[in-house]
Amino acid sequence: SRLFTRPLNDLANQFNTILSAVAGAERVFSILDEKEEQLDDADAIQLQHVKGKVAFKDVSFSYEQDSTLSGVSFEANPGESIAIVGPTGAGKTTIVNLLMRFYEVTSGAIEVEGHDITKIKRTSLRENMAFVLQDTFLFNGTVRENIRYGRLDATNEEVEKAARVANAHSFISRLSDGYDTILKQDGGGISHGQRQLLSIARAVLADPAILILDEATSSIDTRTEIQIQKALWSLMEGRTSFVIAHRLNTIQRADQIIVLNSGEIIERGNHKELLARGGYYAGLTIGGQVGT
Ligand code: ADP
Repeated sequence: SRLFTRPLNDLANQFNTILSAVAGAERVFSILDEKEEQLDDADAIQLQHVKGKVAFKDVSFSYEQDSTLSGVSFEANPGESIAIVGPTGAGKTTIVNLLMRFYEVTSGAIEVEGHDITKIKRTSLRENMAFVLQDTFLFNGTVRENIRYGRLDATNEEVEKAARVANAHSFISRLSDGYDTILKQDGGGISHGQRQLLSIARAVLADPAILILDEATSSIDTRTEIQIQKALWSLMEGRTSFVIAHRLNTIQRADQIIVLNSGEIIERGNHKELLARGGYYAGLTIGGQVGT
């Protein structure tokens, strides 16, 4: 996944550490924020009691000259799931990069809880978001430490509880040293799907109002896949979630589907509505995969 590749690559170069795919990553963000805090507006606010309302208002954005997003508007109400679909290069990742404020909009505005995100302290914005990416990089350390990354002050009991919610507890229990098993950055010893379960456990522990999920496109064995889907669905419960979605059954469950093509929203609605429309989306949803 290219999600957050740039900002995280910058960090990796700086600290010679691979930092990626972190849910509620206080450490990553505190490193980012050390530099960026000074860039916050003097009157930037701290969000209180975030419920998860998010709005894009006529957002346009260009990385360089070419327009990447144009006139993107949508609203997500607290607890809603929004599936973002569309072909590669459509701008799905860019939408979440902007929401996390890794880049600034060229025009228009993004609001969280009714506040323009440029008026919110970056630390405060990011404290309320967690992400689960398709390529979960791990840190050198124990399973427990890898999960605790979601919230550094969590107790062992809280870590284990999060692992249970994430359907990760049973595989962890089967590891040689359980929660004390040492993992390597390359994840040696555990499968790709199990890494995803750890990343979900991190997000459960972080307990944010807003979630960003980049669904895996690579194939994972069916049993783990089902565990991941169930874990994701319980994670999404009660949170506003943005899913860069590839799997039809994820998309079918979404409250809203936003269909992007060349940086513009070309269709929106739920699965039924979009199928009935018989447009672009209806043409994409063939064979259980959407988007490419
Ligand atoms: P998607 O997630 O739908 O595949 P992206 O949001 O990653 O699409 O990309 C949208 C467009 O922006 C693509 O044309 C892509 O090449 C370009 N793009 C993405 N990231 C960058 C970047 N960091 N710098 C320049 N162009 C980028």
